[in-house]
Amino acid sequence: MGLTGIQIFKMLPKTNCGECGVPTCLAFAMNLASGKAELDACPYVSDDAREQLAEASAPPIRPVAIGAGVRAFKVGGETVMYRHEKTFYNPTGLGAMIASDIASEALDKKLKEWNALQYERVGLNLRPEFVALKDVNGDNNTFTALAKKIAEESEFNLVLMSDKAEVLKGAAGACAFKKPLLYAATADNAEEMGTLSKETGLPLAVKADSIDDLIGLSDKLTGMGLKDLVLDSGSREIKQVFEDQVAMRRAALKAGNKSLGFPTISFPCEMAGNLDMETVIASLLIAKYAGIVVLSDFKGESLFPLLVERLNIFTDPQRPMTVTEGIYEIGTPDENSPVLVTTNFSLTYFIVSGEIEGSRVPSWLLIMDTEGLSVMTAWAAGKFSGDIVGMFVKKCGIADKIAHKKIIIPGYAAAISGEMEEELGDWEILIGPRDASLIPKFLKDMA
Ligand code: SF4
Repeated sequence: MGLTGIQIFKMLPKTNCGECGVPTCLAFAMNLASGKAELDACPYVSDDAREQLAEASAPPIRPVAIGAGVRAFKVGGETVMYRHEKTFYNPTGLGAMIASDIASEALDKKLKEWNALQYERVGLNLRPEFVALKDVNGDNNTFTALAKKIAEESEFNLVLMSDKAEVLKGAAGACAFKKPLLYAATADNAEEMGTLSKETGLPLAVKADSIDDLIGLSDKLTGMGLKDLVLDSGSREIKQVFEDQVAMRRAALKAGNKSLGFPTISFPCEMAGNLDMETVIASLLIAKYAGIVVLSDFKGESLFPLLVERLNIFTDPQRPMTVTEGIYEIGTPDENSPVLVTTNFSLTYFIVSGEIEGSRVPSWLLIMDTEGLSVMTAWAAGKFSGDIVGMFVKKCGIADKIAHKKIIIPGYAAAISGEMEEELGDWEILIGPRDASLIPKFLKDMA
């Protein structure tokens, strides 16, 4: 991200045609500089300027897309060392390893169990992304058949692991539609692996024994025309891996080292003897720059905390987390069920919906867009005033679902009840509790 908005502006057509979605070329340049716009949004940039701008605006760590379908993911693309400086963009991919000598029934069982490990949080589906299939016996046909099965019969994406290019070749062909990551080019096989990656167009992991060796290999492969690399510094010792991750990120971001400007992959499964310790290591690596981490297994008690940690670290700290505005059914509410309204700050939503769920009183929960502000803050900012909430209640469609006209507002927003009555006419505005933990009692008393 080398160029300032003004430097970018100088290379734009300056016609202010507005086709990029903002009224002026200067506004577009500013958005481009801050990463809020894509260069492709302007159809009039000259080829020369496009080339210069594309290079200058490319993130120092190349984003690499892996996989296809609902679990496709992107790693890299990061621009800062610390999350509070801006944000981290592409969450660490989570994978589990399967050895290629696994029996077919055991594979089916694992895939079924792993597929079930999905969690709804903050309106998002949290789940792992991939399976790393490791060649343990050089059996090309078996490896290809397993890769095909995982690609075709599960949502998981693949990392295909072998030090033999001929083993990866068959599997890469069989599941190319899932865009697997090939692992790995080393000093011994860089030519063959590089050629395979180039022929198939698939991303390639690069493994060396040190960062210096990694730089050499990375340069060799980019020299062959490869662009989508994922780096493994080779260490399987916690302290060294941690230092490597930090050194590689710093070299790419601060020293502009293009050889190391790629996302990384690391293997807690090869660094510990049990899943608990692997999980601790994985949590360290999620926090410290790993693009991908590979565990030996997915178990709910290990995976869930990692997914939540990842969610927190890769959430933009400058933007509150929100849930979508709308009507949420808690339990199976009917026309007589109570209606509550609150803001779309995700924490508010989850606390309130959790308490309603705990009450076992089926209810309608209206979530109003307050740009992610909590009740008190939104009220103070004029985004949760009586007339605005009243208008939202009218237009959201809840009136078509219920046979009464009562609505419960948060206790902290009691002051808006008068304005709401004016806006809503014949509705009865009930003041709910201030503390969400009192919602169950409140609903049960009402029922
Ligand atoms: Fe300027 Fe291009 Fe945007 Fe038109 S589309 S305003 S030329 S940046």
